[in-house]
Amino acid sequence: MVEIWCRFKILLSLLIALTSVSAVAQSSTIQITADLSDAPRKLYHAEVDLPVTAGPLTLTTPKWIPGNHRPTGPADSITGVVFTVDGRPIPWRRDDVDLYQFHVTIPPGTTTLHAHLDCIVTARVTQKMAVLEWEKLLLYPANIPVREIPIQPSLKVPAGWGIGTALTPVGSGPYPVPAAGSTTKFAATNVEQLEDSPIITGQYFHEFALAPTVTPKHYIDVVSDAPEDSNLRPTTLAALNNLVREADALYASHHYHVYHFLLTLSDVAGGEGLEHGQSSDNGVGEKGFADDAHQLAEADLLSHEFTHSWNGKYRRPVGLYQPDFATAQQGALLWVYEGMTHYLGNVLAARSGLKTQAQYRDMLAMSAANLDYKPGREWRSTEDTAVGASILRGGNPAWANWRRGQDYYQEGELLWLDADTLIRKLTGDKKSLDDFQKIFLAKGGNTGPEIVTYTFDELVQDLNQVAPYDWATFLHDRVDKINPRADLAGIEQGGYKLVYKETPNPSERTMAAAGGRRGGGGVDCWYSIGLRMGGDGSISDVRWNGPGDKARLGPGEKIIAVNGQIFSNEALRDAIRAAKGNTEPIHLIVQADALVSNAEIDYHEGERYPVLERVEGTPAYLDDITKPLTTPEKAPPAPKRDDE
Ligand SMILES: [Zn+2]
Repeated sequence: MVEIWCRFKILLSLLIALTSVSAVAQSSTIQITADLSDAPRKLYHAEVDLPVTAGPLTLTTPKWIPGNHRPTGPADSITGVVFTVDGRPIPWRRDDVDLYQFHVTIPPGTTTLHAHLDCIVTARVTQKMAVLEWEKLLLYPANIPVREIPIQPSLKVPAGWGIGTALTPVGSGPYPVPAAGSTTKFAATNVEQLEDSPIITGQYFHEFALAPTVTPKHYIDVVSDAPEDSNLRPTTLAALNNLVREADALYASHHYHVYHFLLTLSDVAGGEGLEHGQSSDNGVGEKGFADDAHQLAEADLLSHEFTHSWNGKYRRPVGLYQPDFATAQQGALLWVYEGMTHYLGNVLAARSGLKTQAQYRDMLAMSAANLDYKPGREWRSTEDTAVGASILRGGNPAWANWRRGQDYYQEGELLWLDADTLIRKLTGDKKSLDDFQKIFLAKGGNTGPEIVTYTFDELVQDLNQVAPYDWATFLHDRVDKINPRADLAGIEQGGYKLVYKETPNPSERTMAAAGGRRGGGGVDCWYSIGLRMGGDGSISDVRWNGPGDKARLGPGEKIIAVNGQIFSNEALRDAIRAAKGNTEPIHLIVQADALVSNAEIDYHEGERYPVLERVEGTPAYLDDITKPLTTPEKAPPAPKRDDE
């Protein structure tokens, strides 16, 4: 069945190539020059030369972007589109249905169509740096598999800006820091690979070679808004050397010719984490790696995106790979693509020293508690969060706990931890999920940046090779079914249990103090009164059926006073503590739109913050899992904790 379908698809693509797009001479190569000289003014330019023959031609810009799992192609930001032949403009018309497509008619005797286009870029660009994800400027014949369209890229950047990319520069030219006004030319590739090969460029540019004993070569390229930030700390670089060596040991294969971590450090550019086969596009705040406290909140970013080179880019769920960027991607197996990557990214971060084993456990406790207190799981399965991925990213935090978000990430982490500890248990600690990775992710040995798709059945077969078990039922029970509580079996098989204490765990305190991504400035009272708070008293979410919900509080409202005092974080914490063990409710004055009213929260169990507690006398698999597989070349000093 599979083989017949594959052959049909090949025939179909040949037929399409021969009929509707006969105007394109496929043996020739598109030339594209991306001009980022105007990046500080939020505008990228492209000059594109397309080999053509006479007749009607449909060109397109990308719609469904790999890794985004959504139709995020920036057709709405593409502007200044002008087609010319020998310098003379020719008319175009947008397709009435597919708004990403442009129709033109090529005059007789024409062999090259020139296109100019601009893209308005408002994110990942500042006065000092820019990121180019090529879908912003790509234009190519529609209805042909993108891997069959050859293209040769060139790049102009502002004078003195360095360039980081996995693309191969031609010759010994001006690379990585080109001369003022020069163009850097890269080796020809195809449209699929070019879209997968972003560029970062910036005035404050540093490139560091990582783990020189590992082949092929690995680099981290860093740009920042302030000159000192891109010069990463020795402890961070030591941990990244370990990360490359740990991944090499864990995955026992590679699917790239070279790997570049691309990293932007900026409070203006915005955050990012986007995987590619031979690189990853990572964006954090200006001080994201400047000290241990900030680094903790970002500890798994680079290990997560790096893992995707194996899990997601090389091994891709069959529904998430489309031979063009026009067909909708199907997210049903994202709990593998993202969920297993989330698990492995955190494990690798701990094995590499990007965070400690204790910090790994703290973060796992916070994630597990969040899932266990997510009432949306009473109506929606984890699989449905994956199927609906493209409508679940971002969005309003109001009632997000009742809606559920892209929970397949964190649910996947618990699921694969459950599988890992179960394999260890079933095999008397002789096998682990590491053995599964050496089968599943290393299939085909070392390769270049290829895509090999898989199905649910292949996962089950590969798990059975490691430890025979009813893996199909194991996965179906946890993924497809309604499970009102989170899967905590992996934590328990790992020798720990999730408990709630009256003070936040050390990592939660560290990140809150650093204003990390979980800090937000407000009190964490989700597991007590069931509110997500800003530091100014604003309520962003109310836990469905929790104490705040029963008090009829709503997202968007603001607490003005607590027990007769003007709102402050401390006043709220004092009130939660004071209500413990007695019958007096917590008294609030609440602003909703322009109205003010009283509310009472009937809650008496005190503050509650998640942490993992060791169960003595059981195997501590959780700590085995986070131990390094390799000997660190240079041990980075452990981030400071106030409890050890
Ligand atoms: Zn991911």
